Amino acid sequence: MLKNRGLRVTILKLDPYLNVDPGTMSPLEHGEVFVTMDGSETDLDLGHYERFLNQDFTILSNVTAGQIYNELLDKERMGSEFLGETVQVVPHLVSAVARRIKKLGESEDADVVIVEVAARSATWRRRRLSRRCVGCETWRDAKTRFQYILTLVPLLKPTNELKTKPTQHSVRALRALGIQPDAILCRLNDPTDSEEEAESLKDKISLHCGVPRDAIIYLPTLGNVYAVPGWLEKQGLAEVIMDRLGFERRDPVVPPVWKALADKPNLANDGEVSIAIVGKYTSLQDSYLSVVEALRHAELNQGIRIDLEWTPSELIEENGADRYLSKAQGIVVPGGFDKRGTEGMIQTAQYAREREIPYLGLCLGLQMMIIEFARHVAGIEEADSTEFDAAASEPVIALMEEQKNVTEIGGTMRLGAYSCVLTPGTRAYEAYAMAKINERHRHRFEYNNAYRDRLERLGLLSSGMNPELSLVEIAEISDHPFMLGSQFHPEFRSRPEQPHPLFDLFVRYARQFRPDG
Ligand code: GLN
Repeated sequence: MLKNRGLRVTILKLDPYLNVDPGTMSPLEHGEVFVTMDGSETDLDLGHYERFLNQDFTILSNVTAGQIYNELLDKERMGSEFLGETVQVVPHLVSAVARRIKKLGESEDADVVIVEVAARSATWRRRRLSRRCVGCETWRDAKTRFQYILTLVPLLKPTNELKTKPTQHSVRALRALGIQPDAILCRLNDPTDSEEEAESLKDKISLHCGVPRDAIIYLPTLGNVYAVPGWLEKQGLAEVIMDRLGFERRDPVVPPVWKALADKPNLANDGEVSIAIVGKYTSLQDSYLSVVEALRHAELNQGIRIDLEWTPSELIEENGADRYLSKAQGIVVPGGFDKRGTEGMIQTAQYAREREIPYLGLCLGLQMMIIEFARHVAGIEEADSTEFDAAASEPVIALMEEQKNVTEIGGTMRLGAYSCVLTPGTRAYEAYAMAKINERHRHRFEYNNAYRDRLERLGLLSSGMNPELSLVEIAEISDHPFMLGSQFHPEFRSRPEQPHPLFDLFVRYARQFRPDG
């Protein structure tokens, strides 16, 4: 809303944990690790920020308590900055956080810095920061800030009553920390049929929480997360923020896709397509958040509905692919680490290749496709990745020389944007319709160049090459409607305003595929 009013906006996520970044955390614990163009491994919320703002962010936008402690402890040992002082949470740690906020605002010359504060970090922000940086603030005049909180207004089903007590208690708890919200967004899980009741609740919340009535905004579950900005716009939240931050009110210029979503949250009317995601972390769908969002963008772009089937690859290993994939019109094998479940992914790739089901492999999904092709088409039975068997006799997927001496785990993968040149006449080229692209990476292992010619002759095309490192970035199977894998993660670059070309083309082929019967 602010960006559509011509303001320069940037976002910062403050995370309370002691990890330096989420790169070393299990996706089952923390959800997806989002990779930015500059190769930082960040919280998955940065993905939301990029998708909603259609902007690239950097390492400056995700600050963890671990980074702050690291910085302070390094300085303390150096002695140059704190010599003689007692280094404490207040003021040293708090000022270090404030410096990060300022640095981000200045580096992007932002009018507004939006700071998302995880609930549990509220205590260490207390003194200096509570006035300056919660919610949104105008950077040029740090005294102007806008704080909002999000609360839940539950519906008690038996009596059909909306309850405002949780909101009142939340606000009271925040006030005890010196935080007074300027606005309250009330999440409603169920749309309420009695508008009158909902309106009267606003009076009650306003009275008990000391927030003006027009700054109390209902946010029901809309069925499509991309409809939320349009909804909040209609509720007048932008005016409340502009006024409070001291900007002159002005009309927004809304990009077409967001406008369409605001008018009609569900743009689907051109049919349905069934897509299976076969991976290791399917029990926590947040592990593949950007993959799902990239499919959603293709959905919005093509006006269809995608029916997602989550399939753990280990079940395919146990029971065979046919039991789970016979209805699939398209199959995605996303990224992952370690051996567990990979034989099921290889079976999946074989199933997709033999039945000509459109297949999109993302990073590990590409490696699985190559191993499958080597084993079953080229007859290299022992084909494997050295990630799963360090002594593999046929290392079709292997470590790059540069990676062989790396001993630390955190931040040592091939990370961030690398360029890639596409071969005309391939599916990859058809998707992008350009010769040179830039995509984000997060992996250690690579398609081993020693096997390239042999597999290429049998129909595994290298359709995208990294020109500097001479590495295959995209491979595809020539006599298949769409069987393509990328060593990078295209999902990180997909946005409602720019659906990713590989996902978009994959879904187009999936729509044409008719499963047997
Ligand atoms: N485990 C594989 C590698 O490190 C794939 C990583 C991924 O899918 N992100 O190369």
